[in-house]
Amino acid sequence: MLIGADPDTKWLQGAGVQLTKGYVATGTDVTGPAVPAYATSVPGVFAAGDVRYRGVRRIATAAGEGAAAALAVHNYFTGRAQLLQMDGDTANAALCAYYA
Ligand SMILES: Cc1cc2nc3c(=O)[nH]c(=O)nc-3n(C[C@H](O)[C@H](O)[C@H](O)COP(=O)(O)OP(=O)(O)OC[C@H]3O[C@@H](n4cnc5c(N)ncnc54)[C@H](O)[C@@H]3O)c2cc1C
Repeated sequence: MLIGADPDTKWLQGAGVQLTKGYVATGTDVTGPAVPAYATSVPGVFAAGDVRYRGVRRIATAAGEGAAAALAVHNYFTGRAQLLQMDGDTANAALCAYYA
């Protein structure tokens, strides 16, 4: 019987990464300035898989999220994320979610 699992994320909190119930907040779960999907509250830090808040916690999901997060990292380093950074505008937010 699996009665639960606790993510080992305290060290991330020390680095300023927002956690929700011990899991890493990403995308729309981050409070404060809007960030793209898979991005955390700390610029340049991304999360995917079981450690992410609201993760589905399945192998296929973790692999898929890993690929999507890698694209988000690419967008971040190529500057695309800044171009698509949400500014409260709905259309911009939708574009941001699409490209991230
Ligand atoms: C008992 C059990 C049964 C499951 N059965 C199924 C199933 O039948 N089908 C299914 O689809 N999913 C199942 N799952 C879920 C599936 O295993 C997870 O969703 C998947 O492994 C998540 O992948 P991940 O890469 O996000 O995390 P993980 O597979 O947990 O990988 C995280 C890795 O990071 C390492 N790590 C942690 N902290 C640090 C650190 N500070 N520095 C460096 N490395 C670190 C860990 O050692 C680990 O190797 C099961 C899970 C459990 C626990």
